[in-house]
Amino acid sequence: MSQHILPSLPYSLGALEPWMTRETLKLHHGKHHKGYVDKLNSLIHQTPYDEMSLEEIILQAPENEPIFNNAAQTWNHTFFWNSMIPIAQRGAPEPFGDLSVAIQGAFDTLEGFKKEFAQAATDLFGSGWVWLVQDMDTETLHIISTHNAQNPLRSGIKPLLTLDVWEHAYYVDYRNERQKFVAGFWDFVNWRFAEGNLRGEVRRAA
Ligand code: FE
Repeated sequence: MSQHILPSLPYSLGALEPWMTRETLKLHHGKHHKGYVDKLNSLIHQTPYDEMSLEEIILQAPENEPIFNNAAQTWNHTFFWNSMIPIAQRGAPEPFGDLSVAIQGAFDTLEGFKKEFAQAATDLFGSGWVWLVQDMDTETLHIISTHNAQNPLRSGIKPLLTLDVWEHAYYVDYRNERQKFVAGFWDFVNWRFAEGNLRGEVRRAA
């Protein structure tokens, strides 16, 4: 049997302040993310899923049922933590290289991309995720929204970057004003992570 493990954050709890407070990050990682990992481990115990990797569970479990939901939320949160980086460490304040070219190809400008992404994040009704993804057939970039735990891997598209827009991601800091949370995301985006994902180096969740 395999036990899935809550990965450590790639930075300190205060690293995304003032945008995301220490209180929010501690709750989000230590309670919400941990809750999904613990629930997944209890659900798969003594089932065929017990021997599978997280990605295999996401691809094979019935969608929108508890095993899928907890596996996908486990993966999505790890991907989300890696989509961000403290300002002092990020080195790349804007997209670069192939990622920059791909963003301009799909959205004309970086500002155009940010505007469309922020709109999708603000418009998503209920709980979910907004993603920058690459269509593997056309190699073009798109912005997609997924509801609840849904995950792009299931649709055969490559995720590059994500933002969690469940209320637990912003309610402590911004109450109901999701658009303020979304607007602050850009200062902490880890463009190196997105660029690495574009080149095929998709970081595997633990
Ligand atoms: Fe979350």
